[in-house]
Amino acid sequence: MKKIQMVDLKGQYNTIKDDVNTSIQEVLETTAFVNGPKVHEFQKNLEQYLGVKHVIPCANGTDALQIAMMGLGLKPGDEVITADFTFAATVEVIALLQLTPVLVDVNNDDFNINIEAIKNAITPKTKAIVPVHLFGQCADMEAIMELAEAHNLFVIEDNAQAIGANYKYKNGKKVKAGTIGNVGATSFFPSKNLGCYGDGGAIFTNDDALAHTIRGIVNHGMYERYHHDVVGVNSRLDSIQAAVLNAKLPLLDLYNASRIAAAKQYDEAFKAIDNVVTPFRNGDDDSHVFHQYTLRIHGADRDALAKHLNEKEIPCGVYYPIPLHKQKAYVDERYNEADFTVTNQLVKDVISLPMHTELEADQIEYITSTIINFING
Ligand SMILES: *Cc1c(COP(=O)(O)O)cnc(C)c1O
Repeated sequence: MKKIQMVDLKGQYNTIKDDVNTSIQEVLETTAFVNGPKVHEFQKNLEQYLGVKHVIPCANGTDALQIAMMGLGLKPGDEVITADFTFAATVEVIALLQLTPVLVDVNNDDFNINIEAIKNAITPKTKAIVPVHLFGQCADMEAIMELAEAHNLFVIEDNAQAIGANYKYKNGKKVKAGTIGNVGATSFFPSKNLGCYGDGGAIFTNDDALAHTIRGIVNHGMYERYHHDVVGVNSRLDSIQAAVLNAKLPLLDLYNASRIAAAKQYDEAFKAIDNVVTPFRNGDDDSHVFHQYTLRIHGADRDALAKHLNEKEIPCGVYYPIPLHKQKAYVDERYNEADFTVTNQLVKDVISLPMHTELEADQIEYITSTIINFING
């Protein structure tokens, strides 16, 4: 058995080496390192893949969220509602722009933002909702869009973990995660489902005017060379990263399919184990692209299990160990512990297992039997 890794970037690179090397070599030969043809090509390819009118590449996923909020014209003091159980980047950019983050609880089943909690948090100052499609599965976008419409709010999808996932409407129609709200933001950090070999990100929208605004913001607020109409940032995807992404995008569906298959093998092994809750699916197989495969452990010691796995050379992770509303940077006296019962419990229960495109059946078998033996003591 090969050594088990949380994410196997080297193994994946070995399978696409020639394509990636050729694509990078082309950038080196043309020396178009910033805003070169590779970036434009990737933008067009991703627009087509997602079925969205505009993709605006940028430097990373955190910038993508920030720029989306700048593009929508959110102003200091505006309240922005987001999930308590997510990576800090989501709330960080809200705070950085001097908007007011309003953290709310998540669902017990899919770990995504809870609709009732959003409703209870809406005030006259609320301007936007930021659902995070956590671990690769879409939040309840239909309900979120209805709420947003009723209260005249923007919706910014944090799609850093769910690129390629299909969201299914009640009427059966499917669209790609990140293309439903006013704007979507994603990350191409190496370990994400579509990762480059450094930092990268992108913003998606079907709104022509917003796309135009955002294209200026990513490039110093310039719409015409050396005319700065708005305060912008420098956030560009570099051409070498675009070259890697161009080589990998045609494989994204295959990559997601191998994650989904690995998840099924995990599920099957844990089926009869009462102490282990396997990931909930709120749609068809293609609705959850398993950026993480995350279990909940009941009636057994999660931290002892994590330690045991590490001793058996099985990497694992706890995403996320502390609710955002308890993080020093984001504590706020408006919060009431009773409003975060799910997140407060999840941080104690969750454990994420190795998940990547190169996982092999014997590795999964070793991981699951090690966990089951530990639990059955
Ligand atoms: C990774 C991630 C981000 C940030 O992306 P970077 O490219 O690392 O800046 C934002 N939100 C979520 C949910 C993420 O997982």
